[in-house]
Amino acid sequence: MPDDFERMWGDLAPVGRSASSGGYFRQPFTSPERELHAWFGEQCTARGLRIESDDFGNVVGWWDIRSDDPAVLTGSHLDSVLDGGAYDGPLGVVSALAAIDLMRARGVVPSRSLGVSVFVEEEGSRFGLACLGSRLAAGAISWDVARSLTDRDGVALGDVVAGGTSSLLAGVGTFVELHVEQGRDLVDRGTAIGVASEIWPHGRYRFDFTGAANHAGTTRMEDRADPMLTYALTVLAANEQARLAGHRATFGRVSVEPNGTNAVPSKVTGWLDARCATDAGLAELVAAIERQAAERTEVDGTSLRLTAESVSGSVAFDPALAAAVAADHEGGDWPIIATQAGHDAGILSAAGIPTAMLFVRNPTGISHSPDEHASIADCLVGVSALADTLERLTR
Ligand SMILES: [Zn+2]
Repeated sequence: MPDDFERMWGDLAPVGRSASSGGYFRQPFTSPERELHAWFGEQCTARGLRIESDDFGNVVGWWDIRSDDPAVLTGSHLDSVLDGGAYDGPLGVVSALAAIDLMRARGVVPSRSLGVSVFVEEEGSRFGLACLGSRLAAGAISWDVARSLTDRDGVALGDVVAGGTSSLLAGVGTFVELHVEQGRDLVDRGTAIGVASEIWPHGRYRFDFTGAANHAGTTRMEDRADPMLTYALTVLAANEQARLAGHRATFGRVSVEPNGTNAVPSKVTGWLDARCATDAGLAELVAAIERQAAERTEVDGTSLRLTAESVSGSVAFDPALAAAVAADHEGGDWPIIATQAGHDAGILSAAGIPTAMLFVRNPTGISHSPDEHASIADCLVGVSALADTLERLTR
């Protein structure tokens, strides 16, 4: 008898958890994340699901059905951001396994194969590129490019995973990802489940500000070329530009050289995460921030180099599929809502696989933080909603 939702959730709770913050450090190909993958394999085996892995570390547990119809895939990811929450990713994997149990308990036998997927490095927290595993599986990035991506210690992706090819998506006709909501839309609507309409365009941009290192005491204020000032004003500019236009702009990562208390820095690198409702809006936002940063370099005697590390265009999920998933439920239709967060579902959708997302209510809307949460009651509603959806799609 496989573990039920709460047992599985309890299995995962201690893995990769920080004793000080209560948050999770489950970076790809580190031991906590590998432990979760081993756990996933055991759970698949306990359910008689056939395990298929690709050369990039992505895994699917298949409920094989003899049929020529394209398969339905559901799942999410097990990695976390640095000091992340428990729900972002694992909720979709555990719910998928529990949904299969629920379908079997209901006596449902799908008419086509049904798989539970785990894609690696969804957060980009180690190698810098979000949705890396699904991009590789879908052919959205080549192994030749991906293999040389490095982590903060200089370890390359090609050093931790063999690389090569993937056929996991070859027979897949539909993908469904269940995910904790990362905002307050469902709270405001007073409903536990929503369906995604679209993902906002978003990107990661590296701002390298260069100045001149010097003594913090003997260098007069007017004689400095301090890149920290340019950086600081750029952060304020980004915040202002995003507020004015209803976009999102965040500098959440910074590195300083030489990073000494008694030295004017020589270099400051800041990473901007920017998101807008439209591709044109995103381009305008980043251009406006860059323009203000460049103006400030004139004042500070510094220089700026801007590098777009990754840009993901807008994703509109299959509207007919979203409507079919959302319609005709006890208590009314599920709302169809947009999200500002990227997901593997966006990569698969862009690769031409009809894709839907289910969101489970998050009472505070907090995400990418130890405070991320969903109630057990809502999680179980999510399992039932996913089972209903998979039944419809595999009928
Ligand atoms: Zn996620």
